[in-house]
Parts: sequence; C-alpha cells; structure tokens
Amino acid sequence: MKKILLTAAALALWACPARAELKIMTASTDLKYICERIGGAEVKVESLASGGQDLHMVEPRPSMVFKLKKADMVVRVGLDLDMWLDSLVNAARNKALFYGQPGYVDASAGVELLERPEGKVDASMGDIHIYGNPHYWLDPANAKVMAKNILAGLKRLAPEKAALFDANYEYFAAETDERLAAWGARAARFKGLKVVTYHGSWPYFARRFGLEVAGHVEPKPGIPPSASHLDGLVKKMTAENVKVILTESYYPRKGPDFLAAKIGAVVVTAPVSAGGAAGVKTYFDVFDRVIAGLEAAAGKK
Ligand SMILES: [Zn+2]
Repeated sequence: MKKILLTAAALALWACPARAELKIMTASTDLKYICERIGGAEVKVESLASGGQDLHMVEPRPSMVFKLKKADMVVRVGLDLDMWLDSLVNAARNKALFYGQPGYVDASAGVELLERPEGKVDASMGDIHIYGNPHYWLDPANAKVMAKNILAGLKRLAPEKAALFDANYEYFAAETDERLAAWGARAARFKGLKVVTYHGSWPYFARRFGLEVAGHVEPKPGIPPSASHLDGLVKKMTAENVKVILTESYYPRKGPDFLAAKIGAVVVTAPVSAGGAAGVKTYFDVFDRVIAGLEAAAGKK
C-alpha cells in the first residue's frame, strides 16, 4: 500500500508543470537580496554584478545579454550608476524590460537624493554623478524605498500573488526598522567621527549614522589620486585631526595606505554590497560589517 502511495506521489510530481517563478535580473546583489525577500519562493533572482564589483563600471558580457533575454523583470540601482545596463537590455531586445514596461523597475524612484549638482556639469568635474549621488542604498532606511519599488513591480507581473508580496514587504520593512534602531544605537558611540572616504559613496550612510566626511582620496569622482592631492589631504587631515579612512573594498589600497602611514590613521575597508567581503552575505550584513569597522577604528583613535 505504502509503495503504491509513493508511486502516486511521484507521478503527481512528474505531472506537475514546471514552477512558474518570475525570472528577475538585478544590477546589484543588494537588489537581488531585497527581491528575494519580497518575492520569496515565487521568484528566481540573479545579479548581473557581483558583490565585490565596482558598480560604476561593470563590463557587459554576452552571458548577461542571454540571461536578460529570458528575464521577466529587471531591477536597476538607477540614476547614472548602472547605465551599462541600458546597452545590455537593448542588446537582449527583451521589450518586457524596456523603460516604462511592467518588467522595468528603477529602485531609486522616490529616494530623497543628496548632492544634486547645481548648474552645468562638464568633463572637468570628473565622472560626476549628474542626477545626484546614486549610492543611496548605503542608508539602510532606503531599503524600504527599494523594496516598495520592487513590490510594485512584482504586483504588476503577478497580481494574483499580491497579498503574499505585501506580507513579505511588511515583514522586511519591520526587520529593517528593528535593525536601524540597533545600528543607530551602536553608531551613536562614534557620532561626529571625521573620515576621509575613497569615493563619494558615503553621504547617505554618513547622514544616517552621524559621520563627518572631511574629504575624498579621489580628487574628483573616478579620478585616481595624484601625489599633490594626497599631500593636500595629509595637511587637511592633520589640521582637522581626521584619523579614519573609509575605503570601498574594490579600490586600490595605495592611496589610503600612504595617508594612513603618513598621519597614523586607520584604514577601514568596507564592503558596499552583499557578497562584497567574506562573511558579508546579505545586504544587512554590509551595515553590520561597516559599523563594526568604524567602532574598532573609533576605539583606536
Ligand atoms: Zn559614485
């Protein structure tokens, strides 16, 4: 009898059509994590960039085009950070993912932007971010904005599962709030800490957690530091007593290490995305790691 039942179960499984998950491609691993939290078992998500990659410059590959051809939805960081995605989506010729289509999600919609350039932007300013600073995901409060945009996209594509997605969103938003409170309490202990950061990736993080960004290792966005720029930073950091250099994990260590050696500062190497360092598996892990690094640096000050 048991054998017959088992066979029947196996047959039922066999007869079942393949699971109709939504196939989602994201620009970043953080967006992948949030998609998985909101979509649950109803989605299959892959990120085009890896967690340790510089999202300003992701090299398009044919395999990415192939994956986008079969995708139901694409989620981008937006602004001018992942413009490389446009050429990929165009090459894939998957109309469902084109701007304005139901399968197009810009995670930045509704984010309150910092550092919007005033006046004319030109080449002398380096690779300046023309719409404002796009590193908004480094304020974890913006996770809820990103999740809301993803939620809306999922509901457009699978309205019959809206209640499930809504419930997942509520759970994710509540967890985000809880973690924000805990991180805020930890960060209160290094409030006002002055840092020099490699690139301008940190204004949202700094605003959230009370850091003071005194300068950048890059003289201009996307431009590696010159000797004279580093000399200027040594003077500035000495005058303003800046003892911490916060550097994104994918930038060269030469500039930060030079500064650290000159003035006895501490370099905090920070992952900026899920998967950006060993043990940093999720988007939330990023903040655990960066805050722990800053706690240690502030202690050494
Ligand atoms: Zn940038």
